[in-house]
Amino acid sequence: MIKVTVWNEFVHEKTDDNIKKIYPDGIHKVIADFLGKNDDMVIRTAVLGDPEHGLTDEVLNNTDVLIWWGHMCHHEVSDEVATKVKDHVLRGMGFIPLHSAHMCKPFMGLMGTSCTLKWRDGDRERMWCVDPGHPIAQGIPETFVLEPEEMYGEFFDIPKPDSIVFLSWFRGGEVFRSGCTFTRGYGRIFYFRPGHEANPSYYNEYVQKIITNAVRWACPTKKLAAITCPDVPPVECS
Ligand code: ZN
Repeated sequence: MIKVTVWNEFVHEKTDDNIKKIYPDGIHKVIADFLGKNDDMVIRTAVLGDPEHGLTDEVLNNTDVLIWWGHMCHHEVSDEVATKVKDHVLRGMGFIPLHSAHMCKPFMGLMGTSCTLKWRDGDRERMWCVDPGHPIAQGIPETFVLEPEEMYGEFFDIPKPDSIVFLSWFRGGEVFRSGCTFTRGYGRIFYFRPGHEANPSYYNEYVQKIITNAVRWACPTKKLAAITCPDVPPVECS
């Protein structure tokens, strides 16, 4: 079984009635519900307001893949928890930051760049699959539309991805690298763009399928107990 933790800051959904209508129990609940339909996954959720943001050692030690949605409260995530998440990714935990999590502390720490981009609310997104052979793209059409969606535009200040699986075009003319994979240490990372809190994108069948595929792709084959830098004897003895 793949142990998935869906983390959400869970603030917009409690403070804005329009967003509450779309995600009454939080974005994390919608993601946990569609992932929970898979027989090979066991899902738990955690939110910013939980003790240690719900990401205790016990939870992280029992997480194969961590999904992260955050926006207005990135700064409220403690440095200690952010560092711990980064450490788990380097040791092999899969990590899937969604939408405005492009500026969450763990992702920025793993990328080492500003992770900034351009944005504009209320646009039309046409997403293109540009790596159809990639495991995350299986079952996804060549192109599909999300409307309304927030526009994210280049330049997206990230290091060169291992793969660009999805590319988006917006009505305003902008383009964006919407689905990017990275490897950091033993961990696999998939950044996926859609999911502005005021838009129902996490109910879209292709968005759900992409996140589901990404969980299976990011699940570690090996997770280290700790990162070490040992002094070792030679393998060859002469
Ligand atoms: Zn947004």
